[in-house]
Amino acid sequence: MNLRAGIGMTSARTRDRLVNRLREQGIRNPQVLEQIRSVPRHLFVDEALASRAYEDTALPIGHGQTISQPYVVARMTEALLDGFTGESVLEIGTGCGYQTAVLAPLVKKIYSVERIRELLTRTRQRLRDLDIYNVQFRPGDGWEGWPKYAPYDGIIVAAAAPVLPEKLLAQLAPGGRLVMPVGPPGRQDLTVVTRHDDHFEQASLGAVSFVPLVPGR
Ligand code: SAH
Repeated sequence: MNLRAGIGMTSARTRDRLVNRLREQGIRNPQVLEQIRSVPRHLFVDEALASRAYEDTALPIGHGQTISQPYVVARMTEALLDGFTGESVLEIGTGCGYQTAVLAPLVKKIYSVERIRELLTRTRQRLRDLDIYNVQFRPGDGWEGWPKYAPYDGIIVAAAAPVLPEKLLAQLAPGGRLVMPVGPPGRQDLTVVTRHDDHFEQASLGAVSFVPLVPGR
C-alpha cells in the first residue's frame, strides 16, 4: 500500500463521514461524537482491515472476538454518561480497547476486565501508546465483576448475557447505571439499569448483536 492510500483511509474526511452518520442515527452527545472522531480506530484492528476501520461496522480482532460497531460504542457511552456525575466505571470485555479509549477521557477512572489474556496484553500496550493512563486492567471473569473497587458509578458490558448478572448489579453504586446487552443470541436487547435507593429501574435501547459473555474463566 502506498503512503497516499494510508493517509486516505484515516483522513479527516473519512472520520467526519462516520461522525455525520452517527449524528444522523441519533447520537447527540458532542463529547462522544468528538471521541469517535479523534480515537484512531485503525490502530485497534489488523493492518489488513485498517482501510475499513472508519466504516460503521464490527470487525474481527482475533480469538473469535470483534471490535464493536462505532454506533453501538457511541450509543452505549452516551447512555452511560447521560446524567453521569460519578467517577469510576467498571468495563467488562476490554477486547482491543476501543470502547475503553472512547470512554477514558470522559470519566475519572476505568476498571476493565477481559477473560482473554493475550488480548489484554496487546490492549494495555495500545492504550499506553495512545497516552491513556486512567485505566486499570485485570484478566478475569466478567460475571464476577471486580469487587475490590466496587461500588462503581457506571458499569458497561461489551458481551451479551442471557440475564442481568446479579454480581454486577450488586457492584453498582446508588444512582449508578449499568449498560449491557441482555438476551439470547439473535434476541439481545441493549439494556440500561439505573440503581435507585430501594429498587432498580430498567429500560431498553433496542436490538443489538454482541458476542456472548462467556460463563466462567
Ligand atoms: N470492548 C470491545 C469489544 C470487545 S468484544 C471494543 O471496544 O471493541 C467482547 C469482549 O468480551 C471479548 O474480548 C471477549 O473476550 C470478552 N468476554 C467475553 N466473555 C467474558 C467474560 N466472562 N469475562 C470477561 N470478558 C469476557
